[in-house]
Amino acid sequence: MATARLTPAHGLVRPDKDRFLDEENPFEAMMSRFDKAAELLDLEPGMYKVLRKAEKQIIVSIPVMMDNGEVEVYEGYRVLYNTSRGPAKGGIRFDMQVTLEEVKALAAWMTWKCAVVNIPFGGAKGGVRCNPLEMSAAELEKLTRRYTSGIINVLGPDSDVPAPDVNTNERVMAWIMDTYSMHVGHTTTAVVTGKPVELGGSLGRREATGRGCMIVTKEALGHLGMQVRGTTVAVQGFGNVGSVAAQLLVGEGCKVVAIGDRSLSIHNAKGIDIDDAIAHVVKHKSLEGYAKGDRISGADLLTLEVDVLLPAALENVITTKNAAAIRAKVICEGANGPTTAAADSILDEKGVFVIPDILANAGGVTVSYFEWVQDRGGYFWPEELVNERLTTIMKRSFGDVLALSKEHRVNMRTAAYMLAISRVATVHRLRGIYA
Ligand code: NAD
Repeated sequence: MATARLTPAHGLVRPDKDRFLDEENPFEAMMSRFDKAAELLDLEPGMYKVLRKAEKQIIVSIPVMMDNGEVEVYEGYRVLYNTSRGPAKGGIRFDMQVTLEEVKALAAWMTWKCAVVNIPFGGAKGGVRCNPLEMSAAELEKLTRRYTSGIINVLGPDSDVPAPDVNTNERVMAWIMDTYSMHVGHTTTAVVTGKPVELGGSLGRREATGRGCMIVTKEALGHLGMQVRGTTVAVQGFGNVGSVAAQLLVGEGCKVVAIGDRSLSIHNAKGIDIDDAIAHVVKHKSLEGYAKGDRISGADLLTLEVDVLLPAALENVITTKNAAAIRAKVICEGANGPTTAAADSILDEKGVFVIPDILANAGGVTVSYFEWVQDRGGYFWPEELVNERLTTIMKRSFGDVLALSKEHRVNMRTAAYMLAISRVATVHRLRGIYA
């Protein structure tokens, strides 16, 4: 097919189209993928300008009376990137690294992710720059409630629905839901997802992202003509996503030969007993001290000779520095942004089949959508039904992306972006510009 080109009319200032914008800046890394897909879609200049901008960016200052009687002031953000397809959806993180730029990138990511799996949400993200590990539960509750009240005007089941992210959890979601409910005067469970089941959370939500990774990995193996049984897997990150994906892949007959977390990475060619490793982490909070394999470095885990590599920890771990050394045939991106934009083409040249993050880890937001639907309907589904519907959506989405990648002869990441952008752009065209 003829490749369309971005022109000055798109408002883009980019002196060298082959130069990656900035592989360490999350917003620009995401945008370099966006640009590539926009070119292939021949996106009209006006639409390009609209989709490159966040709809709304909120910065709030959050004073908290600390346990020692002193006042600390934190900065919090909520970015609604695009709400053309439905209420904004995206997590809230509490972390010292949080910046407006990062939150904006993650909000855009959520927009494309929801569109890839075709759920009726737009994309958002929020964050507070703080160190939750040094704060008491009482301080965290005050921070959460004051942040919630600072962004209350955008929150709501029809407008913006947060979820947990780095260093936030069910408990934080319960505080947000309670604060919002107190403001509006009635209990509103559908204002957040990832809540405790007793408060309107969905069965299967905790495992959903890892389950989605398992489902799309099986689809990829099938597409590549590889057997699931005996497939070797290395998993970086052994938290919610990595441990569940590893457990479920073993359940399907795969052999997980390496796992690693912040404290330790191990390799065992005979296969690791994942239930045993999870029990260790439950007891000791990390893999530290787990000795049923050979200790390897975190960097070596990424370049092991395995069939499937599942990065499920951090962003920017597969870069121009190590991409050429990757020996996996398939990479399933459980984490958000584990591969830098510049590393994409190196993996392409090596023939690695990458299931991109906006498809691979979309199981979580899909079951968040189920949670929102159940809350709004006031009728809750058994876990089997949640898993069955998740499987249907993940398989269909993988198939949609694969079909587009074959049609346009592009990799799965570009195809996923093309699918997402075209879905969001279609809705914008149908709605028109309100003036
Ligand atoms: P988590 O906190 O439960 O687990 C993170 C794991 O990564 C931990 O085992 C931690 O020790 C490990 N880790 C941290 N730094 C590491 C390092 N330098 N080297 C190796 N391991 C390291 O988090 P999670 O919920 O499993 O999320 C993991 C990734 O998946 C993140 O990128 C997150 O944004 C993404 N994600 C999560 C969900 C979800 O539903 N939880 C959904 C979509 C995407």
